[in-house]
Amino acid sequence: FVIPDFQGFCKQMEEIYNKCYTNHSGKPAEYIPQLARFDSKSWGMAICTVDGQRFSLGDVDVPFTIQSCSKPLTYAIGLAVNGCDYMHNYVGMEPSGRYFNELVLDYSNKPHNPMINSGAIMTAAIIKPELSAADRFDYMFKVYKRLAGEEYLGFNNSVFLSERECADRNFALAYFMRENKCFPQNHKLHESLDFYFQLCSLEITAESGAVMAATLANGGLNPLTGDPVLTVDAVRNTLTLMHSCGMYNYSGQFAFHVGLPAKSGVSGCVLLVIPNTMGICLWSPPLDANGNSCRGVQFCMEMVSRFNFHNFDNL
Ligand code: GLN
Repeated sequence: FVIPDFQGFCKQMEEIYNKCYTNHSGKPAEYIPQLARFDSKSWGMAICTVDGQRFSLGDVDVPFTIQSCSKPLTYAIGLAVNGCDYMHNYVGMEPSGRYFNELVLDYSNKPHNPMINSGAIMTAAIIKPELSAADRFDYMFKVYKRLAGEEYLGFNNSVFLSERECADRNFALAYFMRENKCFPQNHKLHESLDFYFQLCSLEITAESGAVMAATLANGGLNPLTGDPVLTVDAVRNTLTLMHSCGMYNYSGQFAFHVGLPAKSGVSGCVLLVIPNTMGICLWSPPLDANGNSCRGVQFCMEMVSRFNFHNFDNL
């Protein structure tokens, strides 16, 4: 086994889980009522190792929307569909140093990277644009489901409708990119935005999210089903950008302190990848000033203080 003393490991994870439970800081996102309604007490942690061992605690079967945690998955699928060179004609690979939804492009007039809104709208826009909206959604749903090893994946229509209703900034980003000729020819702006909102509105649970993270940890091969969902190259690029850009404006500090690829979303989820070892999904709605789950970040910090999972721990 990749974690030889799995029981001892789980015991420590449980201590960290309990410690984080007493953290009452932050508050849930409020930009749409569907997110504001979530219970601040919700706290789930699920682990799936690359050899298929599972451990979970708390609210791990409660569906929540994936939100920005869809960004790395969509990017990875885009790499698989379009290849790396094509993708990066349209989106950069540099941290923006700005807010995740800021109206700004890089020096070559591309969105800075696929982990911020402009970049994720772009990634969505260039995945199978030749398909009808319905077929495109079906295609993505199926690939996401394979990432989750056929475990829970849903779609929250009220979140989708709210997202679209309260999306002035995302519309502004898309128009700004169109003004700057960022998109390929014949691009359909409203279809791309809808597709982006739909991907944010996919539902996972901490359990199924952990399997998704574990698939990334395992180089794209789902550890439970053996399904080769993504190529190793696509996963390598995705983990690289999660490492440098995955935690909003805390990404640099997170890379410094935790040293692992991760992505957070406004619903309070964190997908954390320990390459070649395990995937972890953390979910707790209260967010800090950077927009990251308070308990989620605390959990990651505590974990690397106990285990040598930091990228540069084994020197
Ligand atoms: N749906 C949200 C948006 O586009 C997702 C943002 C997030 O999770 N940070 O604004």
